[in-house]
Amino acid sequence: MSLSPTDLPAVRAALLAWFGRSGRALPWRVGPEGGRDPYRVWVSEVLLQQTQVARGRVYFERFLGAFPTVEALAAAPIEAVLKAWEGCGYYARARNLHRAAGVIVREGMPTTHDGWRALPGVGPYTAAAVASLAFGEARAVSDGNVRRVLARLHGERQPTDGWVQARADALLDPARPAAFNEAVMDLGATVCTPRNPRCPECPVRPWCAASRSGEPSTFPAPKLRAAVREVRAVALLLGNGHEAVLERREGTLLGGLMGLPTEIIAEGEREEDALTRLAERLGVTVTGDLGTVTHIMTHRLVLLNVFTGRGGPARRDKVADAALSRLDHKALALWRARQGSLFAEA
Ligand code: SF4
Repeated sequence: MSLSPTDLPAVRAALLAWFGRSGRALPWRVGPEGGRDPYRVWVSEVLLQQTQVARGRVYFERFLGAFPTVEALAAAPIEAVLKAWEGCGYYARARNLHRAAGVIVREGMPTTHDGWRALPGVGPYTAAAVASLAFGEARAVSDGNVRRVLARLHGERQPTDGWVQARADALLDPARPAAFNEAVMDLGATVCTPRNPRCPECPVRPWCAASRSGEPSTFPAPKLRAAVREVRAVALLLGNGHEAVLERREGTLLGGLMGLPTEIIAEGEREEDALTRLAERLGVTVTGDLGTVTHIMTHRLVLLNVFTGRGGPARRDKVADAALSRLDHKALALWRARQGSLFAEA
């Protein structure tokens, strides 16, 4: 059997029946079908764009514990929001959440896809998710899980974004858009997984072209990855692993976050020259080399060489109070590892 327009009602019914039996109970699924809490849906969708559900749950509970309502989020200083976002990466999303919360408090909570789309940082996926899950609007979500399920169902190896959205719109149940969207998300996350789809348990298997091919995991074909650019930088740890001089970063490398004073090593520049520039800027004498940490960001591999120094600014900031990137946490861990080895040698 292959999927034709006349099959769509049966596919929907099979999917929704499966969701009724096997849908996941998740902390942001509060409220009736199509009437979820929009704030929780919004925060969860932004969080889950960059993390697995298991980790996302932890971050979600932490973020909602700090800011239980959109009013609390809007009223919080941005530093507190970045601190609560720590570990989730992509800090621009936290900044946009904060800005959008301010708009919502001033102008009211949008209730439509277009209203959500107009908020800072809200893309088509998040707008469709909130509009359908919280307000029952007939909008199909289209993310990586949906793309995979639909590509397999239709046997499409190279699905474009437009193709996925059109197939998702066609399959969406206009009477139950919220349940339908959550069902496709859950099917992609728990059954039609990237490497080992569990086809015998799948409710849409009778119509699935990829399953029939015998090699379902080869659909869709892997996307070509953009080249990863290497970024080299030097940093100075002035203080210790608990209290140190921290600066607010500017530019594209973790801009807006607090971190160790850092200089990027320019193309063709020697590390010593960047370190001299950094030390002169801070009025510091370099005293030691703690080692190198690496950190992978979107399309970038950061190699940060961390040094210690003497002199410079008198102030020390509490590391535990600052919103730091994982890169800086790794750099501070070098200091703690060094202390540990010194004790071991003593
Ligand atoms: S039958 Fe297999 S490949 Fe097809 S949608 Fe279900 S789990 Fe995915």
